[in-house]
Amino acid sequence: MSVRQYNHWINGAEYVPASAQYLERTSPAHGELLAKFAAGTAADVDAAVKIASDLHKSGAWSSVPGSERGKILNAFADLIVRDADRLALIEAEEVGKPITYAKGEVLWSAELTRYAASLAWNIQGEAYTHAGEDKLGLVTREARGVVGMIVPWNFPMVCLFQKLPYALAAGCPVVIKPSELTSGTALEIARLAAEAGLPAGVLNVVTGTGSQVGERLTRHPEVSTVSFTGSTRVGKQIAASAATDLTRVALELGGKAANVVFADADLDAALDGVLFGVILNQGEECVAGTRLLIEESVADEFVAKLVERAKKVVIGLPLDEKVQIGALIHGQHLESVLNYIEIAKQEGAKLVYGGERITANGLDKGFFVGPTIFTEVKPEHRIFREEIFGPVLSVTTFQTTEQAIALANDTEYGLGNGLWTKDVDKAIQVSRKLQSGTVFVNTFLETLPQLPFGGFKQSGYGRENGVDSLNEYLEVKSTFIKLGQRAPVLPNTVA
Ligand code: NAD
Repeated sequence: MSVRQYNHWINGAEYVPASAQYLERTSPAHGELLAKFAAGTAADVDAAVKIASDLHKSGAWSSVPGSERGKILNAFADLIVRDADRLALIEAEEVGKPITYAKGEVLWSAELTRYAASLAWNIQGEAYTHAGEDKLGLVTREARGVVGMIVPWNFPMVCLFQKLPYALAAGCPVVIKPSELTSGTALEIARLAAEAGLPAGVLNVVTGTGSQVGERLTRHPEVSTVSFTGSTRVGKQIAASAATDLTRVALELGGKAANVVFADADLDAALDGVLFGVILNQGEECVAGTRLLIEESVADEFVAKLVERAKKVVIGLPLDEKVQIGALIHGQHLESVLNYIEIAKQEGAKLVYGGERITANGLDKGFFVGPTIFTEVKPEHRIFREEIFGPVLSVTTFQTTEQAIALANDTEYGLGNGLWTKDVDKAIQVSRKLQSGTVFVNTFLETLPQLPFGGFKQSGYGRENGVDSLNEYLEVKSTFIKLGQRAPVLPNTVA
């Protein structure tokens, strides 16, 4: 297999790193070398930010009509679809995720780009026209400036595309720092953006580690906004360092979603939703439904059927189209997931399925764990509270709706939750009380580009997708216009 080698992408061209060093990415599924990414340093970040900042000051992108920006974004989406197979292959190889899901991720990224293109046509302001004959008030929205985007490894494309097309639609130049483990698709789409007609310097990619590239990007005085997706631990560090310059920050952080299943639900659909919610992306998913809260009267039967379905999940090499669970991202993460499984046993939870590393059938060189189910999990258990980022489900029972809501909200996170019931009143009443940025009703992990995505509590702040995403990259300006004969302004009329 040929190894992909990448430089940074700055000002519409490859950019050799100042360090002349490259980071190697080996396959989490079979250990072979896949790619080499430029090992960026502060000097590379400074070069990229200077290009983006000069471009913003010149107005070369922000003054392009929104309709033209929208057309370029649509052309960009077309090219992503054209190259979807190649992008999906890179994503599957570098992350270790199944190729069919990787393809879905690529196509969803194109869909988000088309939605953002439609927003570019519609950036609006307000006019206050009834304030008196001699007064006019305008509210306008301007591109905020250079946006630094820091992205994790689990969904390299979707996490990026919940930010990138919206910032471009708003007229902002960007500097992207992908995860050092999965930088390939960010560099590939940079070329596609150029092919679509995006002017050089609007989209720049600097690869490397968080401590070198990420830290410089968050502290750079000419970066107006940092949009970060990743762990709550690093998100807090970024918020603290960005505070020095009052850089605006949007944080998409960790989660511990619950799937609340009531006895009156379509239990067959709920079984699929619960299983899918915990195995998607090997459980390396910020909205993974890792806590099943099930009404006691149906709990035993539901769990027995869930175990039967879990047995049918296909675990294997990412490029096999039948596979539903691929490899975890690296060996250290595998150890962390296995350690949580041990902790759960020690704390008294009952392992009813899975719980081991899988090495049979040619998987011995990779980091594989299959669906794992624990019952008798109590809120004080660590697997109930902490983000494991693996396909590990904890099952807890409830008797009343109030208990279900209290259990679902008994977490420091608040990214997403699911609930299953055929009772419409109950669905609405419970969803109103769930403390999370997203609630899925009678489905899980399905959404629309129009729906904002983001967290309550320690899952972060700021929103992606929807019109709210565009607004993250726009600055609001009020203009008061005095019309006709000029009246004197008293010294105390302006604060
Ligand atoms: P991470 O926080 O370790 O890293 C995320 C990114 O930040 C990487 O690009 C990394 O290089 C960079 N980084 C690390 N330290 C940095 C620093 N000090 N300054 C600046 N940048 C730094 O997260 P990860 O392990 O890559 O991803 C997993 C985490 O991401 C999980 O907690 C998951 O829940 C979260 N996540 C959240 C969402 C969401 O939308 N809320 C989506 C996907 C993943």
